[in-house]
Amino acid sequence: MDGSYPGDGQPGGENEQIQVMDWDMLESNLDSKVKLAQYQGQKQLKNWVKAFKQITLADGTHWYHGNTLVVVADNTLRRGVTSLFHDQLTAGHPGISKTLQLIQPYYWWPNMKAFITEYIRGCATCQMNKVNTHPSHPPLSPITPIKNTRPFETIAMDFITKLLPSGGYDTILIITDTDCTKPQCSCLAKRL
Ligand SMILES: [Zn+2]
Repeated sequence: MDGSYPGDGQPGGENEQIQVMDWDMLESNLDSKVKLAQYQGQKQLKNWVKAFKQITLADGTHWYHGNTLVVVADNTLRRGVTSLFHDQLTAGHPGISKTLQLIQPYYWWPNMKAFITEYIRGCATCQMNKVNTHPSHPPLSPITPIKNTRPFETIAMDFITKLLPSGGYDTILIITDTDCTKPQCSCLAKRL
């Protein structure tokens, strides 16, 4: 055995290469757009250079914050960057912190976290898959007692349904006398 396996140098390997090339292509397209936008946003960039000391013309042509490309205030462009790392290809909709962590080695703009937070809160896929840890309960509507009523003059009814069938029955009807000091319940099973 030489450690090789079926597929080495075969179409499977090539497919893997194509995926990598797609990613590179997307990223380089985005890089080009970010760089092009910098030319149009020179005025803004000059203000940022004063405000953010880490911004420099690192390669002599384009603006970088440390080692990361500066994205000027262009919402479409910033959405494109966020989308690439959040919901494109195999990004898999990571959370706010993880998406930020993935973008940070490549791109920078002021208040990135706030932008990414807003983007992810507006992401339909994330919202659909979100686990609701604070379910909202409907408000309680207490029944106001009526004085001097006779037994079972005012009643409330409810069904408990979809129980495991027992003797051919799967539903219980509960009738409660709401004005009695000792509420009485009457139960009735309903045939399937
Ligand atoms: Zn998402």
